[in-house]
Order: sequence, then C-alpha cells, then structure tokens
Amino acid sequence: LSRIRRTEPSVRSFIHVADSEAVREAEELDRRIASEGKDALGPLAGVLVGVKDNLCTANMPSTGGSRILEGYRPAYDATAVRRLREAGAIVVGKTNLDEFGMGSTTEGSAFQVTTNPWDESRVPGGSSGGSASAVSARQCVVSLGSDTGGSVRQPASFCGVVGLKPTYGRVSRFGLMAYASSLDVVGCFGSSVSDTATILSVVAGHDKMDSTSSSQNVPDYASELVSLDSLESKPLNGLRIGIIQETLGEGVDSGVATSIKAATLHLEQLGSVVEEVSLPSFSLGLPAYYILASSEASSNLSRYDGIRYGRQVSADDLNELYGESRSNGLGHEVKMRILMGTYALSAGYYDAYYKRAQQVRTLVKKSFEDALKRFDILVSPAAPSAAYKIGEKINDPLAMYAGDIMTVNVNLAGLPALVVPCGFVEGGSAGLPVGLQMIGSPFSEVTCVIADI
Ligand code: GLN
Repeated sequence: LSRIRRTEPSVRSFIHVADSEAVREAEELDRRIASEGKDALGPLAGVLVGVKDNLCTANMPSTGGSRILEGYRPAYDATAVRRLREAGAIVVGKTNLDEFGMGSTTEGSAFQVTTNPWDESRVPGGSSGGSASAVSARQCVVSLGSDTGGSVRQPASFCGVVGLKPTYGRVSRFGLMAYASSLDVVGCFGSSVSDTATILSVVAGHDKMDSTSSSQNVPDYASELVSLDSLESKPLNGLRIGIIQETLGEGVDSGVATSIKAATLHLEQLGSVVEEVSLPSFSLGLPAYYILASSEASSNLSRYDGIRYGRQVSADDLNELYGESRSNGLGHEVKMRILMGTYALSAGYYDAYYKRAQQVRTLVKKSFEDALKRFDILVSPAAPSAAYKIGEKINDPLAMYAGDIMTVNVNLAGLPALVVPCGFVEGGSAGLPVGLQMIGSPFSEVTCVIADI
C-alpha cells in the first residue's frame, strides 16, 4: 500500500484503492495462520491482485470507467474475482480503463489518464491500461483485465508485462460488464508467465452463471512450464511455429519487427521449427471487428438507462430520464460506438454491414484453423508500435483503431494468445518494451504458456 501511495500520483493505475479492505483481509489471514497454520490457506493467500473496474466486486465501486456507473457498488463478485478471493488473494484496488473497454490507450476513462511506467509521457495501452501499469509499476503482483479486441495483450506489450487472453469461454464472464459478448474474455496480467499461468488455473473453468463458459478440464498451467535455461537441451524441440507474414510488413515499426524476428530466432535456437505463414484474410479482421463489436455494444449498453444502476437523475418523463442519464453519463467514444452499431444493425444496412462482417468473421476463423493445422503456435507483434505519447491519437479514432490490427482477429476466432516482453525500441529514458504475441488453437493455453521466455 505504501508503494501504491508513492507511485500512484504519477501512474494513476487505480480508480479505487481498497486500502482498508485489503488491510482487514491481510489481518484475517494472519489470524488464520496463527490458529490453523499456513497449510490451511489457499494457494494465493495474501497475493495482491488488481481488478479491472469493469469486473464487479462486492461492496466496492465498479464503474466500468464510466460516469453512468458512478456510485455503483455491486452486491456480488464476478466469478473470476470470487475464485481469486477463495484462493486467498486480496483485491488491492480497481484499475482504470477506457470506458466500458472501448479504446486502446485508457485515455477514454471518465475519471483519469493512466501513464506508462516506462515513460510517463506515454499511454499504457488499453483498454486494460490500469491493470497493465499496476503490474508494471509493481503496485500489485497480478491483475485481471478483459480482452474484446486486444485489451489485455496490447497494454501488456506497451507496459512490458505478460498478458494472457484465454480461449473464448475458458473463464466465466459472469460479473464482467458486457461490451461485445461474443468476443469478451477475462484475461490475466503478471510479471512472469508463471504468475500469469498460476492465476489462470484459479479463474478458469465452468460456471453455471455463464452458459458460454466451457466445462473442459482446467490444467495446472504453471506445472507445464519448461525451463529455458540451457540452449543446448533444446527444450522446445519439435514445436512448430508460424510467423504471420502479414504482421511484419508495411505499417509496422521497424524496431518492433526487428525485436520479433530476434525473438523467433531465439525460439528456433531452443529447438522449435520456425516458418512464415500467410493468413490471407488478416487485414479484413479490423473493419469486421469494429462493426461487430459496435453492434453488440449498442445492444449491451442499452441496460444503462438511468434506472437500474449507478447515478440517479431526476426527470419528468422517460425520454428526459434517458436523455439526462445517457447524454451526461456516457462519454464521446461510447456514444460514437452506440451510433455506429445501431446504424450497422438497422433495417436496410444490416446485410451490407453486420451480415458481411459475420461472413468475414467466418473467413478469419477458417484461415486460423487452416494455419493451426500446420503449426502449434502462430506468432506476431502484439501491436504495430511501442507505446506512443498521451494525446497523440486521441483525436484520430481511425488511427487508434488501426493499432488494433494485430489483436482483433484472435478475438474473432475465439483463440487463446499470450503476450510476453521480447525486446525494446528506442524511446523514454530506458527504452520502450515490445511484446511478442503467441496464438494457439482453442484450449491450447498449455502450449502458449509452455515457454517462460
Ligand atoms: N481497442 C479495442 C476497442 O476499442 C479493443 C478493446 C478491448 O479489447 N476491450 O474495441
């Protein structure tokens, strides 16, 4: 907590720091150690976690980064949070995000701008920027985020930490504020693959409160890690790795491309077989994603009607109530997405936009399936550039959307992907981190986490 107090004025990772609750829970753990012994405690006893503020936490503010939920304190924990707590983890605070997860820099929060711990003039990425910066600045050990189109992986890359987007359905979405339900997943951040794998094993698994959660067995992911200490022992022997050709060409920062190539060379030295692979529908994913995500958001966000949750407004009739609560409670980007989504779903435009985007989604899925028959893992950068300056893209939404090119396809296909730091480019005083994305087949998180690089 003292580290949070010291670093928070410049990093601003948290919308809410749970000081008194965290101290109370830690004291309770101490009491249990005294009476029952250490072994009686859960596997994560005392581990401090940060939780993205679009995940519900009982009796703690949960705003989704939006004014419309100011003052909202849910009565229950999201399933992923409940499972962490049952394992003994302590929620140390709620982390900042772009409003309802819509954005790539965390500048879209209604409350504050989070900075990148590597260079405070730069963005931490987004939308889970607060969860990434909190781990990067060592304000907590691990954190939870959500990933609809890259919101765990891109901030992990910008902040130099590990970020894992599980397979769609691997982790329950119960208690996660819905953005685009067919794409949303709860993901994990840590400062090592091993930490990240450990919390995945705790939060994953079927949940009767989310019918899309999978009942597939949950492995002990961390126990699958191999040691990469020695190049001679070739620990990745036989692993087939495909570099996605379309992700290293035009529009990608040359320093990023160099780091990724160096990382793949390293993977080759460790025994894997590395080849290039082309995914022809790769570039179609971005426009399809923005149509589908906005369409689903326009429907999901209709629940914020000024009556059920959060901020109360007074109004004389229903129109005024909606007008007052939504006009003042929702931010510009969110309104823009609701408008885009409503438009794409409207009679007369549905076939041209929504239906077309669904067809592209099928194509994207198919091209990943084909490539993953030949390769165990596909790799790419997590983002076309390292962290950029605060304010640089805020007035140019298309440029910001274009930065999601590396990640959105993975959500369209529902696949798992892990981002690990793999190098640096020039910038800031110490260089800026670059992240390598490793994409696997559905439920192959074990293969993705195997190498703690
Ligand atoms: N940047 C993307 C968007 O704005 C992805 C966000 C996310 O994964 N939540 O939609």
